[in-house]
Amino acid sequence: MSINQANKALYASAQRVLKVAVNTPLRKHFDYLAPDDCSQHIELGVRVRVSFGKRELIGLVLGEQTKSEVELGALKTVLEVIDKEALLDDSILALCTWAASYYHYPIGQVIHQALPAHARRGRKLADAELHTAIEAEVRSVSGKLSLNPEQQEALQQIGSANKCYHCFLLEGVTGSGKTEVYLQAIAEKLNSGFQVLVLVPEISLTPQTLHRFQQRFTDYCIVTFHSGLSDKERFQAWQKARSGTAKIIIGTRSAIFVPLKNPGLIIVDEEHDASYKQQDGFRYSARDLAVYRSQLSNIPVLLGSATPSLESINNALAKRYSLLSLDKRASQAKQPRFRSIDLKGKTLQEGFSVELLEAIKQHLHQGHQVLVFLNRRGFSPLLQCHDCGWTASCPRCDISYTLHRKSPELRCHRCESQKKLVSQCPVCQGNSLIPIGLGTERTEEALENQFPDFPIFRIDRDTTRNQKHLKNTLSAIQQGKPGILLGTQILAKGHHFPKVTLVAIMDADAGLFSSDFRAQEFMGQLLIQVAGRAGREDLAGEVLMQTHNSTHPALLTLTTEGYKDFSRQLLKQRQEVQLPPFSFQVLIRAEASKSSMAESFLQAIKQHTRDSAAGANILLFGPIPAPMEKRAGRFRFQLIIQSGQRTALHNLLRRLLPLYEELPLSRRVRWSIDIDPMEFS
Ligand code: ADP
Ligand code: ZN
Ligand code: ZN
Repeated sequence: MSINQANKALYASAQRVLKVAVNTPLRKHFDYLAPDDCSQHIELGVRVRVSFGKRELIGLVLGEQTKSEVELGALKTVLEVIDKEALLDDSILALCTWAASYYHYPIGQVIHQALPAHARRGRKLADAELHTAIEAEVRSVSGKLSLNPEQQEALQQIGSANKCYHCFLLEGVTGSGKTEVYLQAIAEKLNSGFQVLVLVPEISLTPQTLHRFQQRFTDYCIVTFHSGLSDKERFQAWQKARSGTAKIIIGTRSAIFVPLKNPGLIIVDEEHDASYKQQDGFRYSARDLAVYRSQLSNIPVLLGSATPSLESINNALAKRYSLLSLDKRASQAKQPRFRSIDLKGKTLQEGFSVELLEAIKQHLHQGHQVLVFLNRRGFSPLLQCHDCGWTASCPRCDISYTLHRKSPELRCHRCESQKKLVSQCPVCQGNSLIPIGLGTERTEEALENQFPDFPIFRIDRDTTRNQKHLKNTLSAIQQGKPGILLGTQILAKGHHFPKVTLVAIMDADAGLFSSDFRAQEFMGQLLIQVAGRAGREDLAGEVLMQTHNSTHPALLTLTTEGYKDFSRQLLKQRQEVQLPPFSFQVLIRAEASKSSMAESFLQAIKQHTRDSAAGANILLFGPIPAPMEKRAGRFRFQLIIQSGQRTALHNLLRRLLPLYEELPLSRRVRWSIDIDPMEFS
């Protein structure tokens, strides 16, 4: 008897129970009977339409068996089997199952997020023929550079991991030619017939990167996958990846779930970037999932950055990853030099010291471009009455409104609410309302006054909302005429501005004294990335940094020794106090309209956890008010569970979650679990 005949015989004799994942907050799958008329084998990973409560939902088949914990007579029958073949292959199903378990998030909701919207709604796949592109006879890869020895070594090592899992950390200073290494590693995989998935932090902000890929691989089908696409475009890109038509898939965080017919390599560019961690709902790290996915698919994965996360550096030092270093800039360019301007006791003009203004002037008059970095948008972060001291603040968040002059309005940067700009104090009726502090809008005005003959390009979240505007600005900058680029951290993201020779950092002190143990790491990454925009081609670059803390040891190490030494020192400090990556954390957040409710809920969780974990090596911190204690009218608290043993921590959580969910307050507060939290706001 053939397997098919055997299957048919089996199906004829037994009830077929399908394990189906549906999009609900319940942490389990649901059993349904296969339709009576369905004699064929139902592959795992196909979609089915089922009735769920009073609704009809699209679910995904995760398993088939002949038994159920529910009495068979009580099971509903699947209404429709939508696909003939699996929509998600085994490796993506395994990835989702693992992610659901690791992040303690319902499997149905994980799968829901892993699918493009059209697929969730039950749209059928397009015919396969549409996707079998006519393969070009000869594939050309145009214009590749001859690699320097460091790049050569990196490429050779990546190439030696063929059809096997291996994680590489490519730590290369800004402008060292990491992208060139990616491009050539990709070319090798394409030549062997494989597809390559490239994760990038934000495509829309760096259209240049995409352009470089398109220029290099003109004969290959490249698709992008990000939130800027329409549902239809996303579904098309997704299908092209799944069918093997697309050879290079470039996408943001959620692209980690895109199925590939024939994967050969995954690249995570700027692996330290915060955008790889989803900050609400299903709080996964796409970088970490990329590593796990590569293990499942038995392929190499390449994490690249000039400023790797301490987690990845630690993995490399512990030899779990192979470290590939590019310590020099490619071609002739040199690493920019840092110089600090000590602000103590100095008179400033709208935030600028005389030295800084002088330096900007010099660079402009030499015909170069200057980048001014200020990580705060709007005009000023505070509007205050000079007569009575009243400040305009958001009643729902208890923080001051940011004054925006261009719009003009008062805006709360926490809950995004807006208010009409007032010219009179509501308390004393005085007329001297004074903007205090600097944002990019105000700095733009100051620069316009100082340098009226030069164009100023402001790039922050307010000016980049409009894609077309951003594209125009970036291409105006690329023309290379002297001018000033002014903006927030958006400017730190992988841009290549060949004519920028001076980077001016308005305020380097922001990350020095925060209570977040990762603040210095983030500060170091941001400053090095911004500085890395200077002197990327034949013109030498310098970085001027305004600070009140020019002798701060961390800042000194960063700016004189560089990120490599800085990060290793931070890592040592983390080890001394056993903070991540030397321990593992779970953050439980709770918020409610009454602050006592959020706090009591976490107190109850703490009690349960402490009782159950007796003897186990668990530390509990909190509950404490979140740094953003109030947002949009709700009070926010947090509790951290920490352990040196990841598995023990996860097992404990798995055991306790059902108890947490049954706590009386569980339904009255909004709460969530964040595994390996990156942000404590
Ligand atoms: P990164 O990704 O590390 O920031 P890029 O790949 O963007 O660096 O390279 C920085 C600049 O150096 C680019 O202009 C690139 O064309 C150039 N470059 C990279 N590799 C080489 C090389 N081997 N020879 C000459 N120029 C190179
Ligand atoms: Zn007043
Ligand atoms: Zn607010």
